[in-house]
Amino acid sequence: MTFLFVCARCAIENDAANRTCKACGLPLGAMRADPHAGRDAIDPYEEPDADDPDVDRLIRQFAARSGFRDEPSGNGRRVIVPLSHERLQAVYLSYAGRDADDRPIVALVSVCGPAFDRDTRNLLRLNARIVEGCFAIKSLRGEEYCVVVRNLTAAEAEAETTDAAAIVARIARLADSLERRLSKDDIY
Ligand SMILES: [Zn+2]
Repeated sequence: MTFLFVCARCAIENDAANRTCKACGLPLGAMRADPHAGRDAIDPYEEPDADDPDVDRLIRQFAARSGFRDEPSGNGRRVIVPLSHERLQAVYLSYAGRDADDRPIVALVSVCGPAFDRDTRNLLRLNARIVEGCFAIKSLRGEEYCVVVRNLTAAEAEAETTDAAAIVARIARLADSLERRLSKDDIY
């Protein structure tokens, strides 16, 4: 039996023997096994409160409304977004607890690549020009990665007027663009 590792960034399946994703070069050793990478991309998992809306159903419906291929991943779902030049980008959806105003939130997270200290100022600069979502750093299986995060309140995620397809696609494109933006320094 061959083990396949699904790249957390582009969702391509890789042979277990590979150290980096054959498609995008993201190291697989640090975040190798599906579904663990996805689970890490969307942690910390918090048990929904009894009086929370049915976030599992809400996330399934949001993913379905996006129109992209999606599948279970950890405690949430992974949506696979095809981009230009035959690239793929994975966007993870999960319940993410409550915000400071005690509103239940659904997080959308997409992995860009390994994070280095010198990137952080650039990420903050880039955040200043983003309308929806932001760049952030998350620890995935012990290593720090640049990610794009967009949080929606449960009410927003559920609203018919919320364009799930546009939101997911925008996060995917933003995450995919980060490496190219930062790679002027030949980081990756
Ligand atoms: Zn990849």
